[in-house]
Amino acid sequence: MKKHNFSAGPSILSNEVFDKASKSILNFDGIDLSILEISHRSKEFVNVMSESRRMALHLLDLDESEYTSLFLQGGASLQFLMIAYNFLNSKAGYVDTGSWSTKAMKEAKLFGEVIEIASSKENNFNYIPKDYKIRDDMDYVHITTNNTIYGTQFHKIPESPCPLFSDMSSDIFSRNLNFNEFDLIYAGAQKNIGPAGATLVVLKKEILESICRTVPSMLNYKIHFDKDSMFNTPPVFSVYACMLSLKWLEKKGGIEVVENLNRKKSEILYSEIDSDDVFSGFANVDDRSIMNVTFNLNDEKHKDIFDKMLSENNISGLNGHRSVGGYRASIYNAMDISSVEILIDTIKKFKNYI
Ligand SMILES: *Cc1c(COP(=O)(O)O)cnc(C)c1O
Repeated sequence: MKKHNFSAGPSILSNEVFDKASKSILNFDGIDLSILEISHRSKEFVNVMSESRRMALHLLDLDESEYTSLFLQGGASLQFLMIAYNFLNSKAGYVDTGSWSTKAMKEAKLFGEVIEIASSKENNFNYIPKDYKIRDDMDYVHITTNNTIYGTQFHKIPESPCPLFSDMSSDIFSRNLNFNEFDLIYAGAQKNIGPAGATLVVLKKEILESICRTVPSMLNYKIHFDKDSMFNTPPVFSVYACMLSLKWLEKKGGIEVVENLNRKKSEILYSEIDSDDVFSGFANVDDRSIMNVTFNLNDEKHKDIFDKMLSENNISGLNGHRSVGGYRASIYNAMDISSVEILIDTIKKFKNYI
């Protein structure tokens, strides 16, 4: 029996995607060749790439005349430096909400001045800073909409007078935002889109005109755009599986439908955590993420019992990140509510037992 997989990333994908993707490894679309062995310039793969790019914009409800999407490599971590290489001319503002933002800032400092607009570092990033003002003289402002490690999430996107960039690695496609407010969005595929290997970048075409220095080809957004996201060999399998998972999302009813499910899943889990004092949620209640639910056991002496019950109930991937400890249930789009219910039942059984 397949485990209930709460891993933070690489993470769960729908069974439909696993099924179709594995068949295509043997025989892609009835062409008697594997998806892994055909040219990325073949019409079959060119279709996969263009369909993936189109689906991404379509699901985010972004207009193709204004925005474009790219499937690049190097993970979100390469985007940390790529955005700065292309767009940080003098100064950029960052909201520091955790170690991924901190890493993004570190890379950006190689290219210009980084202004920390706000930070929640003094409280081990257990909340999202609010009440700050964003000045209007920066090349861009960068936020991390969902902080995978801490389980915090921006529920209100700050109003920015400067172009707004966001790392949405762990909450893209999970909830409806006004994506038009963003000039650039990036996400490593392996949290909520598909297998590791591809990184989705969505950007306003007009910002390609403001690339501020000579950038090597592989790191230059304009070149990737001009080459239809195929400047070099793309991560073909990852892009293909991303396409399948975007189609699966569309078939389910799109972002609004999964958002409702994601809210429901997170609400029932938080409510179980809050129901007594056996566990405590890690994140500030108002800033809790609907994707990564972080919680700690109040009395660590029961840890072994709880861990044993998790494994007996086929629950996998629940360990918290080492910088937070405790537990983290990542409940991405592909996770069925029935798996969350099994986790909740296990927590209840544990509470009765101790
Ligand atoms: C996982 C993660 C990253 C790092 O992604 P890579 O693709 O491994 O570079 C960056 N930002 C956030 C918010 C993440 O969750």
